Amino acid sequence: ANAMTVDVPRTTHPFLDGRPKRMLIDGKWVEAASGKTFATVNPATGEVLAQVAEGGAEDIDRAVAAARAAFDGPWSKVKPFERQNILLRLADLLDRHFEEFAALDTIDMGAPISRTRANRLRAVGMLRYYAGQAVSIHGETIETSLPGEYVSYTLKEPVGVIGAIIPWNAPLSSSIWKIGPALATGCTVVLKPAEEAPLTPLRLGALCLEAGVPPGVVNVVPGFGETAGAALAAHRGVDKVAFTGSHVTGQKIVQTSAGNLKRVSLELGGKSPDVVFADADLDAAVPGAAMAVFANSGQICSAGTRLFVERRVYEEFTARVAAYGRSLRVGDGRDEATQVGPLVSPEQLDRVTGYLAIGRQEGARPLAGGERLTDGALARGFFVPPTVFADVRDEMRIAQEEIFGPVISAIPFDDIEEVAKRANATPFGLGSGVWTRDVSKAHRLARSIRAGSVWINCYQAMDPAMPFGGYKMSGYGREGGKQHVDEYLNVKAVWIRTG
Ligand code: NAD
Repeated sequence: ANAMTVDVPRTTHPFLDGRPKRMLIDGKWVEAASGKTFATVNPATGEVLAQVAEGGAEDIDRAVAAARAAFDGPWSKVKPFERQNILLRLADLLDRHFEEFAALDTIDMGAPISRTRANRLRAVGMLRYYAGQAVSIHGETIETSLPGEYVSYTLKEPVGVIGAIIPWNAPLSSSIWKIGPALATGCTVVLKPAEEAPLTPLRLGALCLEAGVPPGVVNVVPGFGETAGAALAAHRGVDKVAFTGSHVTGQKIVQTSAGNLKRVSLELGGKSPDVVFADADLDAAVPGAAMAVFANSGQICSAGTRLFVERRVYEEFTARVAAYGRSLRVGDGRDEATQVGPLVSPEQLDRVTGYLAIGRQEGARPLAGGERLTDGALARGFFVPPTVFADVRDEMRIAQEEIFGPVISAIPFDDIEEVAKRANATPFGLGSGVWTRDVSKAHRLARSIRAGSVWINCYQAMDPAMPFGGYKMSGYGREGGKQHVDEYLNVKAVWIRTG
């Protein structure tokens, strides 16, 4: 029912001109020192979109040197109002070119155009939010109790050179969530995009230059994780690594960052619980719980993949979520009608279909989906339909491990005490959902769930002014909100003895 068998046109986009994409270092577009390139592919068709300069340790060195020189030199003299202006110009430019950016995310990582277009607030709005933050940075004057007279105050200073490493599941907003706070605070950045989706970050680099970001302040070095990413995380010229990606890579980054004890912030994965009580507005909870996982084909760090449903409504509710999943249109993200696009890569396809097999072996009951789609044109891409497994038990791997695909593991529960405990029984703590009409239940779970976000009668709501981030192995640090900018600032205590 999900399969669409339209023939797929060749991928075209104004950014694709047939030439290899170069990297941005010190305001110039350059080839990799090694001369190497790698291919980036449209996951809906398997077609190579472009060759991209493959950054390695030498390129990271050059980029960090440029970022350091800009930080120590001209950029340190730029006043907050000018940084605000740059951010506002960048926001305006992005707003004007937004359709082009949405289409670039869609062809490079597969998300439906309806979704990438809807990200305007997270991208343009976020830049405007950082623009506001740029002129709101201030220290404090503090009364101390020392004998004698002192004037004591704090200064907020930019941390320095930021090594930003991002995944492929939301390339535009992930790039902005690193570049934005750097520009707001006066830091400089070396951004390492994911190898699966480097095009949008590179295009954004060009927009930064157009907005008047000085050379060296924003550098974009595409390349692979074990080479370019690892070199950036280990680099002694980097003052902070801002990482978004898997917890396994996060652990490596913490280790390699130890060489110079650089600061680290980590936005990692999850296995987020979504709890549906029988007293909820089920008509709202069905699409809410379904899209908490099926949006972006489940390739969202905070996807509500452990669906706890109160036993009284378990059969009815899971059947309705499965029917909703089957009704979604799976296809090429460029098609306006598509609701679920492909997975990003053959590796991701193997990973997700592997978990589909594991779920069946573990005895979970598939209510929808469960197999790769290969009808017609879909065979060329990496398509997995919305999948719902019922009769899942807490200890199953499909209830414990992050699948990063459109797979719901539906688990029955009986009461609030029990579900509060079970919701927390993973090493992760990123997102969580609660569906109920009972205010007390909502508040009790909001307190007891150990996760960075709790969404009640909604899922995945996000706003530039609200913090987002993890508890436990979902990482530390926050993006969004005032705390985000604080993570890019040092606090200096200044003491003046006046008598
Ligand atoms: P990944 O960890 O494999 O890769 C992320 C980035 O790290 C890529 O740029 C990659 O090249 C780089 N990398 C890989 N190995 C590295 C190394 N040894 N040293 C330095 N860099 C290295 O993750 P992925 O598969 O691209 O993305 C999916 C994961 O990201 C999921 O776990 C998901 O939950 C998580 N994620 C989290 C958030 C969040 O905000 N919490 C957002 C999106 C994705």
